[in-house]
Amino acid sequence: MVDHPKVGFIGLGHLGLHLAASVRRAGHPLTVTDLRRDAASPLEAAGAMWADSVGGVAAASDVVMTCLPSPGAVNAVVSGDGGILGRMRPGSTWIDMSTQDRSETVRLAGLAAERDVRMLEAPVTGGVHKAAAGEITVLVGGDEAVFEEHRDLLGAVGSPVLYMGPLGSAAVIKVITNMLAFVHLVAAGEALMLAKRGGLDLARAFEAIRQSSGNSFVHETESQVILNGSYNIGFTMDLACKDLGFATQFGREFAVPLELAGLVEQTFIRARAQYGGGAWSSQVVKLLEDALGTDLRADGFPDVLQ
Ligand code: NAD
Repeated sequence: MVDHPKVGFIGLGHLGLHLAASVRRAGHPLTVTDLRRDAASPLEAAGAMWADSVGGVAAASDVVMTCLPSPGAVNAVVSGDGGILGRMRPGSTWIDMSTQDRSETVRLAGLAAERDVRMLEAPVTGGVHKAAAGEITVLVGGDEAVFEEHRDLLGAVGSPVLYMGPLGSAAVIKVITNMLAFVHLVAAGEALMLAKRGGLDLARAFEAIRQSSGNSFVHETESQVILNGSYNIGFTMDLACKDLGFATQFGREFAVPLELAGLVEQTFIRARAQYGGGAWSSQVVKLLEDALGTDLRADGFPDVLQ
């Protein structure tokens, strides 16, 4: 019989809910919590237990996974009054799946080690539709032996699971992948606008770009919800600005000029001011639509990616 470690999951938002559902589907006993009580309903229907506090999750689990929106939220859940480190058993493991500040990851892992709690960082990339299918890419940093011990659990959450190196490596590569995605997103908006203003049928232009040397993962996915007009990619402006902030911070730290990322960061800051932090990040292209009074709608594209 397969021995399934007891897993705790904290942060059941647009992404975390899907990740936690994959853990449960793989047969792990699962205890969850979130600031929003109703966030857990689909998981409870699948047999997960609710805990009233993050400490309650920690006490019930061999492995605690977190998927939280900001460094402040991770700090509050992990080391704050009543945080998980106060309740986790020696020898247990905390896996942070948030997109997190690298220095915070290293600092919090140090606090965990003082309590004999191991820590892995495991941010993911690919979007909520991939997470829902259990096909999101998992990027892991931390001690390699600890990673190997948890490879099956991480593989239950997503695929492929890529080991990047020591703690902090996954934070760097995760931010790099999102920096590329945001540059591609703004470029895709400009490309579609050129096609529209050039008199092309946007559905045909979408397909031609998809079959061309100018294709990208972002075009294949986000261009569809732009053309639909829902912009619903399950990822907010606040999160995009957070990630671009990490990218430009790395640029300063590693003395790498990030001219495109710097420009795109400003574009996102403007979009967040215009549409709000909770707006979907794909809506950044609406800045161009609004400026030109020209929309990018076409028939036949889904409201939400499947
Ligand atoms: P979200 O805002 O939808 O969800 C965050 C959840 O955390 C919410 O349900 C919130 O109530 C909960 N939360 C916040 N503070 C809490 C606390 N103190 N205790 C308990 N619960 C708390 O965010 P998301 O889109 O699910 O993203 C989560 C993380 O994953 C972020 O770091 C994000 O950058 C990263 N990420 C998201 C995506 C995506 O497509 N959405 C993709 C890759 C990475």
